[in-house]
Amino acid sequence: MAARGLGSRAPFSTSCPGRVARSCPGGVARRGRSCDGAAVASAALGVVEGPDLDPDGERVALGVGAFALLGLPVPADFGAPGSRRQILVDAGDGVVAYTVAAADSDSGEIIRMGRAAMDRLLLQAPPPSPVDVTTDVLGRCELLETTVLRSCATVAVIAPHGGSIEDETDEQADLVASDPVVRADSWICRAPAGGAFRRWHITSDDLSEASFPGLRALLGVRHEFAVSFHGFGAIGDLDVIVGGLVDDDVKCRVRDELQGRLTAVLQRPAKLPSSSST
Ligand SMILES: [Zn+2]
Repeated sequence: MAARGLGSRAPFSTSCPGRVARSCPGGVARRGRSCDGAAVASAALGVVEGPDLDPDGERVALGVGAFALLGLPVPADFGAPGSRRQILVDAGDGVVAYTVAAADSDSGEIIRMGRAAMDRLLLQAPPPSPVDVTTDVLGRCELLETTVLRSCATVAVIAPHGGSIEDETDEQADLVASDPVVRADSWICRAPAGGAFRRWHITSDDLSEASFPGLRALLGVRHEFAVSFHGFGAIGDLDVIVGGLVDDDVKCRVRDELQGRLTAVLQRPAKLPSSSST
């Protein structure tokens, strides 16, 4: 079904069937309000070194004063779904996305990060001057989200790491979501080339609907099934990994189906794990 671009109008304001919202369709974000209409805030924060909160350096802590400056609530439980918000940090060498995963014991207007997190900013040590921080993760129009909602969709198809973050996952998700056999809604994020994985990869479990209005819209629709497309580097000589929380027997059936079809496409035996995995 053809979907209609909403341009600068309020996303998701129309009824079904078929609507598309793209963040920042060529527009420029305004301070204090993102191109999606969501309230956003920016602030200059001092960087303080601390322990890494995750091995990949995606998570940081904010001082209570920084939460206030950015207009972010301090979650009572950072483990609650959607509570870990995303921010962009600019230390002068391009913005980098982070997840706010803790409130720091320092009550000041600071952002605390470990060496792995600083590595993502190409920093060896905390810079002497404050860095620019914003809650408007889509406002610079580098990271784009595209949400397609159809009437009566039963499947949610997502690719949170499309574009150059995890190559071709956005195209794979698009292919599935646009297949007329599958009545699917989709949410796809794309980032441009240029250190994309380093700058934009946020672990899926951390992505907050409070930071991504398109994700919020998708989550507002009840779906029976969901499939998420991801990429991976060399893991043995595997072609595809089937993971997720669905029952093992379902994953095994998906694996077997993929194995048969991929073998025909690849013209060699497709390599999938012998047992389902994540
Ligand atoms: Zn991924």
